[in-house]
Amino acid sequence: MRSQVSEYLDEIVAATATGPARGEPATYIPELAHVDPTLLGVALTTTDGVTYAAGDADTMLSIQSISKPFVYALAMRDRGIAAVEEKVGVEPSGEAFNEMTLEEVSKRPYNPMINAGALATHALVGEPGITDEERDELVLAGLSAFAGRRLEVDEKVHGSEMDTAHRNFSIAHMLYGYDILTIDAHAAVRGYTRQCAIRASPRDLSVMAATLANGGTNPVTGEQVVPVDVVRQTLSVMLACGMYDAAGDWITDVGIPAKSGVGGGLIGALPGQLGVASFSPPLDEHGSSARGVEIFERLSHDFGLHLMSVPPLTRSVIRDRGSVDLIDGRSATSYVLQGPLRFSSVEAVVRVVTDNPPEHRSVVVDTTSATSVDATAARMLGDLVARLRAEGYEAWLVGLPGIIDPDDVAADVSVVPSVGEIDLRS
Ligand code: GLU
Repeated sequence: MRSQVSEYLDEIVAATATGPARGEPATYIPELAHVDPTLLGVALTTTDGVTYAAGDADTMLSIQSISKPFVYALAMRDRGIAAVEEKVGVEPSGEAFNEMTLEEVSKRPYNPMINAGALATHALVGEPGITDEERDELVLAGLSAFAGRRLEVDEKVHGSEMDTAHRNFSIAHMLYGYDILTIDAHAAVRGYTRQCAIRASPRDLSVMAATLANGGTNPVTGEQVVPVDVVRQTLSVMLACGMYDAAGDWITDVGIPAKSGVGGGLIGALPGQLGVASFSPPLDEHGSSARGVEIFERLSHDFGLHLMSVPPLTRSVIRDRGSVDLIDGRSATSYVLQGPLRFSSVEAVVRVVTDNPPEHRSVVVDTTSATSVDATAARMLGDLVARLRAEGYEAWLVGLPGIIDPDDVAADVSVVPSVGEIDLRS
C-alpha cells in the first residue's frame, strides 16, 4: 500500500506543476542553462530515517549554494565555532548572494550563506596547512556523510563555473587582502566552486537536511557527522540568512530553516522533525527556485511545519500520578513523566509537586517514559529529588541510560534505571 504521506507529496507536486513556471534556470553558469526546466521533485526524510518522495526526486542536480550550510558545519566541526565566527559573521545581509560587501569594521563577510562568507568558510575546513586536494576530499566526504552515500563532483559544471567566476575571484581577492581568507584566492574559488558542483538528488538532499534536523546524526546510517552545538549554529544561520534578501518573507510564510541553490534545489531542516528538499530549475528574482518556494509554502501550510507553531509542552507532561509498590511492599507516590522533558515541561512538574505535596513518605520521579531529558530538565529533576529528601521524604529519580545523563543530575542523587531496582537502603 502506498503511504498517504507519499500521496500528499504527489498532490503538492501536481498542484505546483500547473501553468508555466515563473523565472528562468540560471544561465551565468553556462552548464546549468542546459537543465530541463520542467523537472520537479520533492523528498521528505523524517528524523527516524524514513524518506517519502514524489516527482523527479531521484534526478541528480547541481547543489550549488546548498553546499554552504553543510560546509559551514564542517568548518565549525574542524576549527570550532568561535574560530569560524572570527572570520565570518552571522548577520543577514539583506543583499544578493554574490554581493561584494563586508562588515564595516571587522571586514568579515556578513554570513556564510552569501558567496563571500562561503569562500572564507570553505578555506576553514580541515586543519590549517592541508593541501587543496585534502580539503576537497574532506568537503566531499563530509557532504557524503550527511547524505549517507558517496556523492560526486560534476566536473563539467565545475569547469563551466570556473570559466565565468570573475565575481567570485574578485570577492576572494578582497577577502585575502583583508586577512579573512586563510588560503590563496585562486585555491578558495577553485575549491568553493567544486563544492558547489557536487551532484545530489532531492532524495539525498532530504537526508542531508534530516541530518541537520536530527542534531547532526544521519538518521539513516546512524553516523554522527557534526556535533549538536554546530547544528544549532548552522540552523540558526540558515533561518536568518538562508534565503538571501528574502529572509523575512521566508521566516514569516514558511518558517523552516532553509537554503536554496541556483541549480534549482531547495532544502529545509525542521529541528527534531524532518528534512525536505525540492528541485525545479527556474529561479525567482532572489535566485531561489520559484516552484521550490511554492512547494515549501504548501508543505509548511498543509503539514503545519512552521517553526513557530509549537504545541504547548507542559499540558501532558505528567502521564500518571499515583502510587507504586516498592520491593518491600511499601507504597510510594509516583510521578510518571512523558514526552520531551526540558525547562518548560519540568517547571510544570516542579510546580505540581511543590503545590500538592506527595501523599506517601516515599516518592518516585519516573522518567522512563520520556522521549528525551535535556541537561536542564535532568538538573531540575535531580534538584527536585534532593529538595524532597531535605524535607524528610525518601525520594528517587528513575531514568534510562541514553535518555537521561547522570552527569547532568546533582552529584548526590543517583539515577536508578527502574522502579524495581530502587535500593531502599540508599
Ligand atoms: N556557485 C554559485 C555561485 O557562486 C552558487 C550560487 C547559489 O547557488 O546561490 O555563484
